Amino acid sequence: MQQLDSYAAHPEQSLGRKTHESPPNNRSEYQRDRDRIVHSTAFRRLEYKTQVFVNHEGDLFRTRLTHSIEVAQIGRAMARSLGLNEDLVEAIALAHDLGHTPFGHAGQDVLNHCMKNYGGFEHNLQSLRVVDILEEKYAEFEGLNLTFETREGILKHCSIVNAKRLGEVGERFLSKQQPGLEAQLSNLADEIAYNNHDLDDGLRAGLINLNQLKNVSLFQEQLYKVNEEYPNLAERRTIHEVIRRMINRLVSDLIDQSRLNIQRANIKHIDDARAHGTTLIGFSEQMIELHLELKQFLRKNLYTHFRVYRMTNKAKLIIKNLFNAFMEDTKLLPEEHSRKASIMESQDGSDGRARAVADYIAGMTDRYAITEYKRLFDPTQLT
Ligand code: MG
Repeated sequence: MQQLDSYAAHPEQSLGRKTHESPPNNRSEYQRDRDRIVHSTAFRRLEYKTQVFVNHEGDLFRTRLTHSIEVAQIGRAMARSLGLNEDLVEAIALAHDLGHTPFGHAGQDVLNHCMKNYGGFEHNLQSLRVVDILEEKYAEFEGLNLTFETREGILKHCSIVNAKRLGEVGERFLSKQQPGLEAQLSNLADEIAYNNHDLDDGLRAGLINLNQLKNVSLFQEQLYKVNEEYPNLAERRTIHEVIRRMINRLVSDLIDQSRLNIQRANIKHIDDARAHGTTLIGFSEQMIELHLELKQFLRKNLYTHFRVYRMTNKAKLIIKNLFNAFMEDTKLLPEEHSRKASIMESQDGSDGRARAVADYIAGMTDRYAITEYKRLFDPTQLT
């Protein structure tokens, strides 16, 4: 059994589940959340959803599934060291991207644009929608009926308008409170994971090279050390050695700084952390700068690289056309979804119809979206 500090999320103090359930046997409430997430349909789809590279571009790149597993790994290590609840961090990490559209951020941006007159589309909110409503597996309740703490962690951000609709879990955005420490930590584990693995994938794909990284201090610092220790190491191994040391450096910095922040603020209970004016899990001032430098490098050189951009553009075209076609005629949707669209339309008018279409599109994997596009618009496709 993991030793939890007083400020951690203790399962027996949980704010509970929407539908009351008797306590689990042989596992904690947050382990039960984690298990439900792993068994969900949306979780399996993460395997075929893009992180930066579209799924068919290569077998070695991260997908949302391997990304989520890396977030969970980094998150758990940090949680254990800080006396926070590892099971809760794992549950949040594995669920945090469940609401992502196909084709990564490009998909989310264009779906948001399509939905602008119908309440918009936010991927964090969609992740919550997946676990609260869209997963249909259990006899007793809609969704996965997760604990408040896991749901609080999944909902990283949301607009004020949406926060008002959400009840308890949206409350903190209105009262300017923070989520518990496990949620704060999972959020930064996500950042550590993607900044480092995107760098790794970008180098592997040849979209960026070592020479361009000259001005990225976090990388240079470790490259210098690795070159000193292993002057004849092959490039691929050097890169891996550098990146694993970068992750280590970020993780150690976060643990030290967060411990200090928690002590200074005299945090004794999860509610003290929630009520605190700012987040307590974080990097040192110096690391914030270094991390920012890395993020800016990736934005400038990788995320906007023409090869990524070209795929992004195709992704936009696919999503926009799917949305417009389904919106115009919901009979084009598979039966189950067209039935849902009629029910939702009868409740909420065109907003409801649009939401049903967005739910269907957001649930697609990259390759499913491409196939669906061909089925709808390519006359040579027979099925
Ligand atoms: Mg993520």
